[in-house]
Amino acid sequence: MVDVADEATLREQLVEQYIHVERIGLNELASGNLSVRLGDNMLISPSGATADNINVDTLVECSLEGEWEGDRKPSSEWRMHAAIYQSNEKTQAVVHTHSDYCVAMASNLKPLPGFHYLVGSFGGTDVPCVPYSTFGTQSLGDDAAAALQDRSACLLGKHGMIAHGRNIKSTVDLAHRLEIMCRQYVLASQVGEPEPLTDEEWAEFFDRAQKVAYGKFI
Ligand code: 13P
Ligand code: ZN
Repeated sequence: MVDVADEATLREQLVEQYIHVERIGLNELASGNLSVRLGDNMLISPSGATADNINVDTLVECSLEGEWEGDRKPSSEWRMHAAIYQSNEKTQAVVHTHSDYCVAMASNLKPLPGFHYLVGSFGGTDVPCVPYSTFGTQSLGDDAAAALQDRSACLLGKHGMIAHGRNIKSTVDLAHRLEIMCRQYVLASQVGEPEPLTDEEWAEFFDRAQKVAYGKFI
């Protein structure tokens, strides 16, 4: 199901979640950016936004081709957000963070392996990591959009993570969940190299997950 709210509500939710993301430690200073779909356009955090300076009036309405008006520039990552909306018609929200454990994994250009069943909640048996591209580039956007065809989140090589979902709150929760899973993988790796779930275990997980509509979006 797709959630669609009016513009004023979307603006309030976006600001609330931007601040929440910083409060739970996923972004610090001006790292990361959040957006929601707004008709044919998107509403995105301005470039350089922080939890201290963001408010409903500084959010930028930006077309998926990068057109915008006003005195605040859209996030430098508007191309990545736009590419994800363009290639996934169900996507209503996009969240990008530089959270610590996602960056720890992504710095090594490593996917998060299926060491724990909850890795499956992102839609597959691992969470891929796309190659490094300079921030703000179309190639970063294209790689992220391709990875998100069959996942609700991916890691961005030597950069961070990005997630998409049906509304801004559930998408922030996905970003939070990925940070938890990367942290737990980093901890598990200190004890040994954890074995991923087997094909049979994954098949049973996805069968059960479908029955309880778990991770249904992707
Ligand atoms: P913006 O402040 O332009 O959104 O950039 C932050 C960021 O995370 C770039 O990748
Ligand atoms: Zn970034």
